[in-house]
Parts: sequence; C-alpha cells; structure tokens
Amino acid sequence: MAPARSRVSRRPVPAAVREARRAPSRRALLAERANKILDILEQAHPEATCALHYRNPFELVSATILSAQCTDERVNQVTPALFARYPTAQALAAARPEDVEEIIRPTGFYRAKTKSLLGCARALTADHGGEVPRSMDAMVELPGVGRKTASVVLGHVYDIAEGIAVDTHVLRVSNRLGIARGDDPIEVERQLMTILPRERWTRTTDVLIFHGRKICIARRPLCGQCPVFALCRWPQRQAFAMGKPPRAKGAPRSAARRRARRASAR
Ligand code: SF4
Repeated sequence: MAPARSRVSRRPVPAAVREARRAPSRRALLAERANKILDILEQAHPEATCALHYRNPFELVSATILSAQCTDERVNQVTPALFARYPTAQALAAARPEDVEEIIRPTGFYRAKTKSLLGCARALTADHGGEVPRSMDAMVELPGVGRKTASVVLGHVYDIAEGIAVDTHVLRVSNRLGIARGDDPIEVERQLMTILPRERWTRTTDVLIFHGRKICIARRPLCGQCPVFALCRWPQRQAFAMGKPPRAKGAPRSAARRRARRASAR
C-alpha cells in the first residue's frame, strides 16, 4: 500500500510567515545598529583610549584597582609616586600597608584599596613569577581584580579580548542607546558580547566611556551634539536636544513656575 501523503506538507506557507522567515531576526537588527553606532563613535572619538597612565601590565592592574570610585585623573596623580617606590609586583608585595595607604589616600577607600593592591601583588609574586597572567580565569583569581579590571588589562596590554569592561559610563550609554538593557554590569557585558564581534570588544569600552564623559553625560547629556542621535533609543533625547530636559521627579520647580502656579490658583 502506498504511504499516506502528508496533507500538512502540501499546504502553502502563508505570505506573512514567508516574509517573517526572510526578515532578519531582532538580534541581527540590534547587532547591525550597535555596530553602526560603534563605527560612528570610533570615528567621532579617535582619541578614546584607556585614560590611566601605565608602562607595563603590573602598573595597569594596580592603576585599575585604584580607579574604583575615583577619577582616572586622580589615579594618575598618585601612581607616579607609587610606582617610583614600588616598581614591581615583588616590591609592592613586600610593602608596609601604612606606607601604601599614605601614598594612595587621595583616591579614596585607601584601606580597602591597599589590601587589594598588596593582595594582588603577593598573588602575582607567589603564583605568576611577578608577571600578570594572560587569561580571564587567572586574572579574576587575583585579589581586587574582577572581570572589569581583567578585561581592561588583557585588552590593553596583551591585546586579548575576553570580555567588555562595563563601568558606570558603559552601563548608562549602552542602556540609553538601546544596545543593552539592565543595571547589572555582568548582564550588560553578556548582551554586548553577543552582538559585537570580539575584535571590537576592547575598543567598545574605550569609546563608550569617552562618549559618556564628553557627550552622553549622566545628568545633562548633550543630545543636540551627539553623532549617534538618529540611532539612539533614549526617549528623552529629543527634549535634551532642544534644551528642554524634563524635570526630575521630586525636583523643586523654578521660582517663576511656582509664582505662575500660585497666580493661576487664586
Ligand atoms: S542621543 Fe543623547 S542619550 Fe542618546 S547617546 Fe547621544 S547623548 Fe546619549
């Protein structure tokens, strides 16, 4: 007996479904927009790079540890004295904590940072011959070093891209642009890594940080001067571009508006 013919297979595929199958997926569209944004920002900010001063991997690890909750400028002011006195991981590993605290005090949280610096230097000395390792797994084992620090160091000194460092600027700018969503840096990093090619990862951090500092400023973004305005998804960009930022919730009204409201209430 001849096998029964499948009726399902003979049914024509609806045009809408055919169209949907042909259409690029949402992720592909997001990746295309994100890469276009990065193309433009890289062109607009050619000077964007790691702002911390360093001469070798050990110095960049140490400077990045110091940069937590502190500006890069402030870190750059203290690191010359720190590295002059402790030029290697071995020298820093043998330092007295109170001496290090004194030097790095202007960067804030100096006790916790001293603990991290010394812990990191001791681990580098004991486990890696004083050298900074070349893998994410080994880096994040070092005291005071998380994925962000590891990505910065691996990307800038070894040209190894194993992640995208997400700091406060990268978090804010990528959310506003609509190329990532969420306030967890690890999750935002994961999202960015899925839509950007690996060769772009290190530069992405530099460019988004630079853009966040110069244009997409936290409180008053300069949307009117932004080169990626047309590709941005932040609902308030138009208002900021026109110089009419919406009043923050709970912010006091201006004196003129208070007077006008009182007058209309009478
Ligand atoms: S348009 Fe405004 S919010 Fe969007 S990236 Fe540019 S500065 Fe930031």
